[in-house]
Amino acid sequence: MSFQNPVFIPGPTNMPESLRRAVDMPTLDHRSSLFAEILHPARAGVKQVLKSQTAEVFFFPSTGTGGWETALTNTLSPGDTVLAARNGMFSHRWIDMCQRHGLDMQVVETPWGQGIPADRFQEILTADTGHRIKVALATHNETATGVKSDIAAVRAALDAANHPAMLFVDGVSSIASMDFRMDDWGVDIAVTGSQKGFMLPAGLAIVAFSPRAMAAVETATLPRTFFDIRDMGRSYGANGYPYTPAVGLLNGLNQSCQMLLDEGLDNVFARHARIADGVRAAVHAWGLELCAVSPDLWSDTVSAIRTPEGFNATDIVTHAADTYGVAFGVGLGEVAGKVFRIGHLGSLTDVMALSGIATAEMCMADLGLNITLGSGVAAAQEVYRQTARPLKAAA
Ligand SMILES: *Cc1c(COP(=O)(O)O)cnc(C)c1O
Repeated sequence: MSFQNPVFIPGPTNMPESLRRAVDMPTLDHRSSLFAEILHPARAGVKQVLKSQTAEVFFFPSTGTGGWETALTNTLSPGDTVLAARNGMFSHRWIDMCQRHGLDMQVVETPWGQGIPADRFQEILTADTGHRIKVALATHNETATGVKSDIAAVRAALDAANHPAMLFVDGVSSIASMDFRMDDWGVDIAVTGSQKGFMLPAGLAIVAFSPRAMAAVETATLPRTFFDIRDMGRSYGANGYPYTPAVGLLNGLNQSCQMLLDEGLDNVFARHARIADGVRAAVHAWGLELCAVSPDLWSDTVSAIRTPEGFNATDIVTHAADTYGVAFGVGLGEVAGKVFRIGHLGSLTDVMALSGIATAEMCMADLGLNITLGSGVAAAQEVYRQTARPLKAAA
């Protein structure tokens, strides 16, 4: 790899220089008031990014996966029933974690490339008259397939079934890049990490609990110690932490929230959408298809691109790394070897995206695919030219 090139993996994402500097700070006593001046604004910033008035936000030295475990172990008891759709590697892993915690899974098997079937959820929830199902899990953006699911539709399914199950959402590859409305969608727990939309190194699990989820903590009996939000919450109340916090990352997170809010969340989402539009225009110019089966499912943070039958898509990723020093994402699980992924979230400009598209073209041509050099680049250039707006002077 070359450190001069941006990465095009769907996390960890490229880090803006200012955030790299924010993370790189001298040692600070986390029992001093200086720490509180980082912690509390970071919690307030994340709450704003999540569009929530009422959520309690917690940070664990961990990653998104630890955020899943925080959500499950703090609110559920062994044998509780959980509803989930499996439509990619990340929803699969969350289901697997539930099973390993002794939860009873009701899984809606869903073809990879499709979104969460809210109508099936509604049928299942309506049939569950005894309210055995305690939680519905939803992976907002399936990073393995580049599929965005409709969380408002999942909420509507719960409401239509008049079912009291909580709604937990994995927003690891959507939050801070695509619109996320914790309160409007009635999300009870939102999970993310530091290394995707927040443009930081990996190392923080970021979790937000609704008042209902906070109430469920009192009766849940799954074992938890490190991830117990009661210890975490009590410590926050005393301006502290139950153990040693990742202070630099929290400082970075505070600044990242400021950066996103200064840009304006709507502008952040619009930037991701138009960069993604350019990537998709390139894919179609190459004569290739996305794994996501219809435009309403297209993710604005990652595109999983199907390669022709008989071609190993992973070769593109290997060749890009070995020859051009550029990182793309491999296909995972069921779509391993069938897709390669272009991550387009976080700190990214049109110009950076064009360099990734150009590199993908070179790799595909080198490997004998029938790609006209410049075709995808030209298609993306048209999208970017036509949608460009004057840049605001840097603050
Ligand atoms: C990256 C990712 C995860 C896993 O997060 P880690 O921080 O690697 O533990 C979970 N879900 C989704 C949708 C992701 O994109």
